[in-house]
This record gives sequence, structure tokens and C-alpha cells, in this order.
Amino acid sequence: MIDPVDEGLKLILSRSEGILQSELWKEMGVDSRKCSRIVKKLEDDGLIERVEFKKDGIKTFLLRGKRMPVNPSQLLAGDELIPCVGCELECIVEECQPLMDWMYQLAIVEHTTE
Ligand code: SF4
Repeated sequence: MIDPVDEGLKLILSRSEGILQSELWKEMGVDSRKCSRIVKKLEDDGLIERVEFKKDGIKTFLLRGKRMPVNPSQLLAGDELIPCVGCELECIVEECQPLMDWMYQLAIVEHTTE
């Protein structure tokens, strides 16, 4: 069974513009009180930000994933830069051969530096 907090986070992160809290609980199939608890946990853990928002005169919140600064070393497998930087391919992560090759390279580098 999927943890509802993980499910909520996944849904929020899947929307680059964010999602309204009033839509999130409907999409998750939970009631608004349970959704509020999930959102509070994600906010307390610093994973999302919650911004006041009015829709049709009704107050709700816009939920967005927090942008984390990237550690540049995490973009390298040895001296090979992750292929996503500057990528113009149609992105289907699960089927991406350049990314698979890069991850394979990363596994080799990590194995040889252990
Ligand atoms: S996963 Fe593949 S297709 Fe998607 S951005 Fe990265 S390199 Fe490009």
C-alpha cells in the first residue's frame, strides 16, 4: 500500500506549477482533514511550500515542491555530465538510453572508488 504522504508528495511534485490543496484531496480520494494533515507533514519536513490562493473567492492554498539547491557533484559520473542537462529529447525517463548509460557509468565509478 502506498503511503498517503508519499502519494501526496508525488502528486505535488508532478505539477511544475503546483496544485491547489482543494484539488489535491479530491485527486487523492481522501477527505480535506486528512489532506491537511498530509500537507502539514510535508510542509514541516521542508519538502513543499504552501502559498495562500483565492479561487472563485474561496481561500485555499497553492502547494509546490520546494526547489533544492543542486550539489554539482551529483550531476557527474566520473567526469561525465548527466545527459539531462541541455537535453532536447522527448523525455520518457523509464525508457531513456542516455540516462541508463550514464547511470551505468555512475555505478562503475562508485564501485571503483569504494
Ligand atoms: S531522462 Fe533522458 S530524455 Fe529525459 S531529460 Fe534526461 S536525458 Fe533527456
